[in-house]
Amino acid sequence: MIEVSNKCIGCNKCVPVCPFAAINMIDKKATMNEACTLCGVCVQVCPVNAITITREEASARDFSGFKGVWVYVELTETGDKSHQKRIKPVTFELLAAGRRLADELGEDLCAVLLCDKNHNYEKELGAHGADKVYMVEHEELFEYNTDIFSTVIVALVTRHKPSSMLYGATIQGRDLAPRVASALYVGLTADCTGLAIKDGLLLQSRPAFGGNIMADILAPNSRPQMSTVRPNVMKAGEPVLGRTAVVVRETAKLDRSLRRVKVLERKIEHDAGAVKIENANIIVSGGRGMKTKDKFKQLDELAKLLGGVVGASRAAVDLGFKEKTHQVGQSGTTVSPKLYLAFGISGAVQHIVGMKASDVIVAVNKDPNAPIFNVAKYGIVGDIHEIVPKLIEALKKAK
Ligand code: FAD
Ligand code: SF4
Ligand code: SF4
Repeated sequence: MIEVSNKCIGCNKCVPVCPFAAINMIDKKATMNEACTLCGVCVQVCPVNAITITREEASARDFSGFKGVWVYVELTETGDKSHQKRIKPVTFELLAAGRRLADELGEDLCAVLLCDKNHNYEKELGAHGADKVYMVEHEELFEYNTDIFSTVIVALVTRHKPSSMLYGATIQGRDLAPRVASALYVGLTADCTGLAIKDGLLLQSRPAFGGNIMADILAPNSRPQMSTVRPNVMKAGEPVLGRTAVVVRETAKLDRSLRRVKVLERKIEHDAGAVKIENANIIVSGGRGMKTKDKFKQLDELAKLLGGVVGASRAAVDLGFKEKTHQVGQSGTTVSPKLYLAFGISGAVQHIVGMKASDVIVAVNKDPNAPIFNVAKYGIVGDIHEIVPKLIEALKKAK
């Protein structure tokens, strides 16, 4: 419920900022109409704190009107001269996961696309499983902005009432999802590694207590149920050519004054040689067992011969063997290459959560009981300081 108290001085400041044209000035007092979504924007601009929003206490309510699994579509710069944006791969991973959830619930899978100019994105989204695409095209959506994007998402959710909504645990998703959750007064489970349906609810699994246990989280008292999922944790499906999505065009009244953060300068990295372990097909990773920074450098050579990139455990990073950008795991990057080679890595749970989605894992460790062997497809018990040079030699000969 939204109320305007007698403190209102009729200054009119709240009227232009309301994205839903929900405020009229009647007898010099702000009065809200039924278009109000309780987004809270007007509360922030009122100079005399005359506006209050009261939200219902969480309780077991009837949520039968909430239907649909929604996926937030994240766009990213292509980095080329066209300045055209492309859909970030994590969106396709979420669509694959969302498809399974929607099928089990018997609901639609919907993609939510906010852009200044649509470049037939709905084709890719449909091919990756979306039944519907809610699309808002507006010049103010030319780049991500917390205030603008969260306002639009809150409006869409309020209008269409999805049962769940998934975001990538990217810089953008981690910024947007909490803002939306707080505006809607719903929960949010961050960094989920597993999503399933249990008794009609979204079962959100994520590591807890430093990764030592997996917590299963349910949100029975609010809708939508919201989660962020790290890139590379879920596998994207193959696109089905010709599969199409229904496009639902939505409008939003957006004003530049909503934008409280201004981007002063943008620098896009064009360096093709930059480390991007999250996109690599082959990762040659090393741990504390590599012993020294010099010995660790052998992995650079091995990775080069295999056409891969180098990864590292946190222990190896802490010892200064490799930069933090190469760290794989819970507090590093989550990867899912076709081939993951682990040399002298014990297989702590915090490392495993960051690489277990790899297609083939090969581990070399002198300890036959090292936990890394539990997730490895091929395990070699032996001394890495003998095995790595031999591998390099063999690959050089083969070339
Ligand atoms: P160790 O556990 O010391 O293992 C070294 C291995 O090398 C041993 O298994 C040993 O048998 C083997 N070895 C030694 N010599 C040889 C040899 N000559 N030949 C063959 N094998 C040999 N860790 C991460 O990796 N990524 C993370 O993102 C991460 N995040 C964390 C977040 C939190 C909140 C916490 C608490 C911890 C985190 N950690 C993370 C740390 C994690 O718990 C482990 O400490 C770390 O992964 C261990 O790295 P390691 O396997 O290289 O070293
Ligand atoms: Fe408009 Fe949001 Fe204020 Fe409602 S809460 S009147 S929708 S700005
Ligand atoms: Fe009244 Fe506050 Fe709106 Fe000004 S901003 S008209 S004081 S409710």
